[in-house]
Amino acid sequence: MNSRPPIVAVLGHVDHGKTTLLDHIRKSKIASGEHGGITQSIGAYEISTGIKGYPTDKITFIDTPGHEAFSKLRSRGANVADIALLVIDAKDSVMPQTEESISHIKNANIPFIVVLNKIDLPDAKPDKVKLDLLKYDVAVEEKGGKIPCINISAKTGKGVKEVLEAILLLSSDLNLKTDEKNPAQALIIETKKDKRGIVTSCIIKDGVLNTTDTVYAENLKTKIRSMYNDQGKLIQKVIPSSPFELLGFKEIPKVGSVITTTQGKQVDAQQEKTPKQAFNLEAILKTIQTKKINIILKVDSKGSLDALSDSLKKNDNIEIIMTGIGDIHKSDIFLASSSKSIIIGFNVKIEADAVELAKAEKIIIKTFSIIYELLDELDEVSGLLKKQGLDEKIKGESTVLAKFVIHEQIVYGIKVTKGKVSLADKIEVFRNDNLIGKSKIQSLQIRSNPVKEAKKGQEAGILINPNLDIKIGDVIKYIL
Ligand code: GDP
Repeated sequence: MNSRPPIVAVLGHVDHGKTTLLDHIRKSKIASGEHGGITQSIGAYEISTGIKGYPTDKITFIDTPGHEAFSKLRSRGANVADIALLVIDAKDSVMPQTEESISHIKNANIPFIVVLNKIDLPDAKPDKVKLDLLKYDVAVEEKGGKIPCINISAKTGKGVKEVLEAILLLSSDLNLKTDEKNPAQALIIETKKDKRGIVTSCIIKDGVLNTTDTVYAENLKTKIRSMYNDQGKLIQKVIPSSPFELLGFKEIPKVGSVITTTQGKQVDAQQEKTPKQAFNLEAILKTIQTKKINIILKVDSKGSLDALSDSLKKNDNIEIIMTGIGDIHKSDIFLASSSKSIIIGFNVKIEADAVELAKAEKIIIKTFSIIYELLDELDEVSGLLKKQGLDEKIKGESTVLAKFVIHEQIVYGIKVTKGKVSLADKIEVFRNDNLIGKSKIQSLQIRSNPVKEAKKGQEAGILINPNLDIKIGDVIKYIL
């Protein structure tokens, strides 16, 4: 068993300095070690840090930063990156894409390092950022947490060596091992077509690949024609964590898929045998075994986000994977695909290419512009989930505001406080949290008009059968 270098992805908000950092590291490390340097990026590069005392002194960086590239790599089920760097501009602090990046990193379940950039600027406030991060459940070491946090200037290079050292330290804790005898497993990080033909950029995570090998990627098979390293040099063999270009495929394989030397090891091909179900509510009910719905919530403003996430957090059947402000992008679809979530949009649009991707990945997206419709729908789905489970589901709740006698029948005036109430619902009546009786709705009216249902916030009149001795202030729960 040998140690392999860590593979690192860089995430963060636009303009916070991800590219500057990646460029700085590449220029200072590769060019000094190897002459000629890189003329063209292959999607990742490997550096020798020259830092001693760790199982390896090398690091591979994925050089397309941002959570879209990150989640695209993950969409086919495999984690390419071992460690993430979360780059935050120390004067701007946490911005919407910082928040999204945090969700993507947490969903990938990999360790990360917070890098506070632009420390050279006079208005940089790294301490404020560390405090702000606590709101997002990111506790850096200085704030009692475990996440390393380093102040840097990607422009001047200050602190960059400390970042490299922190990566090596984290990676020795991860104990990244590989064995040359293991079957080769390389992950496709980019694909393109140039004068050499179809070029797949890959990083090998285990085993070795030789130019004489025949390889598989999903349903494609090819004999390797040639391989190049990140310096553009022709190579005969690649070893773990090295980025390389592979030529030979006749069709373009999918980014994120795994290249192996044995067809049996095809993780994705295996998954393809059970085609993804088209998602609709029934399908969700059939496919979700956990009785929890994973949700990615995209909204138009901070106000809506607060209102909605508060309500959603109360629903035990809902697990919020990510919340974000802004339209629905491709990265949201990738995250939905890897985290098996549905996407809920409130007052936001879906970008055209995200619509296409959602169709291909069979991801359900629902957009709403009225809050109670959204909450109702989720209540309904989670209600059905519970019904599919073992217990009965309370789908609505109301308080009794008044009691009238009309044509010798007792009508209760109620206000729906949760979910909704439907005609023919079974009811349970509670007084001071004690059940005092069960019955059924016989008629339901809003302002003397018969209706089939009343929603949260509405007032209605109900007639129940059999009658119970309901008092003003009692709580009625409606059962599916
Ligand atoms: P990205 O969108 O996260 O990749 O951000 P870029 O690397 O493109 O950087 C955005 C802007 O911030 C550019 O104008 C950079 O020159 C500038 N920038 C990046 N790092 C630093 C830094 O450490 N200090 C200062 N003063 N500016 C920086």
